[in-house]
Amino acid sequence: MIPFLDQLQQSDPEVLSLLESEENRQRLGVELIPSENYTYPEVLALLGSVFTNKYSEGYPGKRYYGGQEFTDLIENLARERACKVSRAEHANVQPLSGSPMNQAVYLGLLEPGDTILAMDLSHGGHLTHGAPVSHMGRLFRFERYTTNPEDGSFDFDAIRHTAQQTRPKLILCGYTSYPRDLDYAAFKAIADEVGALTMCDASHYAGMVAGNVLANPLDFGFDVMTTTSHKSLRGPRGGMVLCTKEHAAKIDKSVFPGLQGGPHMNAIAGIAFAMGQALTSEFKEYAAKILANAKAMAQAFLDKGASLVTGGTDNHMLVLDTEKSYGINGKIAEELLDGIGITTNKQILPDDPNPPLRPSGIRMGTPAATTRGMGETDMARLVDWMDQALRAPQHEGLRTILREHVETLCSEYPVPGIGS
Ligand SMILES: *Cc1c(COP(=O)(O)O)cnc(C)c1O
Repeated sequence: MIPFLDQLQQSDPEVLSLLESEENRQRLGVELIPSENYTYPEVLALLGSVFTNKYSEGYPGKRYYGGQEFTDLIENLARERACKVSRAEHANVQPLSGSPMNQAVYLGLLEPGDTILAMDLSHGGHLTHGAPVSHMGRLFRFERYTTNPEDGSFDFDAIRHTAQQTRPKLILCGYTSYPRDLDYAAFKAIADEVGALTMCDASHYAGMVAGNVLANPLDFGFDVMTTTSHKSLRGPRGGMVLCTKEHAAKIDKSVFPGLQGGPHMNAIAGIAFAMGQALTSEFKEYAAKILANAKAMAQAFLDKGASLVTGGTDNHMLVLDTEKSYGINGKIAEELLDGIGITTNKQILPDDPNPPLRPSGIRMGTPAATTRGMGETDMARLVDWMDQALRAPQHEGLRTILREHVETLCSEYPVPGIGS
């Protein structure tokens, strides 16, 4: 247990008992939500460290409070390592999470009312890419492009046509639910033709980019890459903006004082550590294993006759069409899998006729299970159990048995940061 946590036994047993219940939930179940991961024990400790006490408005060397000798050093370390990991000229590590990180880019580089060309939500774009329910949809005019769900390909002629018609100031790619890599050169060529900036939101898969198993948009001349630090990168919850020198001053001003106050220095200390890890050869092996596990899981589903959006995966995630495969919607599938201790999440599919709260599929990913040390044979076993559970929604007794299999598997793979 983290130092001092045992004091909760005396000071607040109610909070302690909830923490222990969550630890057990994480220990006894398999986490397949593709945006989740288990952070490093060192990051858990740094998040609980005295860096949380410090106010550090401003940037290293230019702060609005005294006492910044060590916060300056830790933030500089985080920035330098983030630049190395992503091959960026500039890094801002202060965004409090992924959503404010994207807002800071739009507000820093564009004017309200400007047009942004982004991926359609049902095809895999994120809420902050202009969903009507997001405030960003009120501030900027979003235009959309889609994919071919059969193979995941983009129709770049159609995207070029839309760009010429709508004259976006920014072309945005990146996704929250899309199982293939992106053709950054094609996006960049269109942006150059219409004079638009290029931005990639690599929140889900920046760890795969760091590990060189997916392409890096900055290698193709993109202006900006954003990423959360807590998904495939395994860091604390936070966001980073990685960009060229040209945009550095605007981005920094936009994050602070434009959008935020004091940065969370405990999270920045955790980002410094996670970026250090991302530079190691072990991390590159980890990224390769995430991919191998996702491919093994996809193949196992295909062998069962199930239907995957785009027919497979080239990254850390797969999108299962539960309606086509099992005749049930994603909400029911998510609940059935919860019942056997496997956590997934319901997912709207391209041009989904069903509403978002009971869409036609689920999304699964391998970063968390891979962190635990699970491998390709484990992926095949998990798919076998998931397939059985999804085929027999009425069979509660079967779910009890499958849940025991899942717990036995989990007992072989401890969760980093949780004692057994
Ligand atoms: C997760 C995610 C975000 C938002 O991150 P939060 O930390 O949840 O605010 C933004 N963009 C993409 C593509 C994401 O996957």
